[in-house]
Amino acid sequence: MRGINKVTGTLGMDDQALHIQQSMYQYSRAIYRSIKDLIDPYASQADQIEYRRAVLEACEQTMERLARDPQYFAKPERSLFQDIRRYFPITAQAQVAWTVTEGVTAAVAFIEDQIEAGAFDGGVPRCHATTRKGKPCQRTPLPERDYCPSHQHLERSKVAA
Ligand SMILES: [Zn+2]
Repeated sequence: MRGINKVTGTLGMDDQALHIQQSMYQYSRAIYRSIKDLIDPYASQADQIEYRRAVLEACEQTMERLARDPQYFAKPERSLFQDIRRYFPITAQAQVAWTVTEGVTAAVAFIEDQIEAGAFDGGVPRCHATTRKGKPCQRTPLPERDYCPSHQHLERSKVAA
């Protein structure tokens, strides 16, 4: 079905989805870059690395979810701040909260513009795989692919077939 759609010219749609994904990634990186050096300086070196990874992951997950379900994600900035605040000292909390609010608000405005422009037809594409529990995989596919990183082997077997 998807193959047919591609041939009959929904390629523009895919390009837009890719554009949205890439933009969300930029917003996520921007937030991360602005706050990564505020991470608890008294934590051990190993912990600081772990905290950075957790903060980056939380930023990315927030943006992915925002791109997938923009209409149903209430207060994404609060949700992200709650997820990551424990990695920062008290003295940095206000700055982190401000940065997260600014970054997420900008991303939400971008998504809203895309919705208004009609670029959103059910959101960014989802992975075509079915999970072991029989539900559709909710993850974002790799750029220009039909499957997420965990299911990318399915893409290869499809190509081989
Ligand atoms: Zn998947």
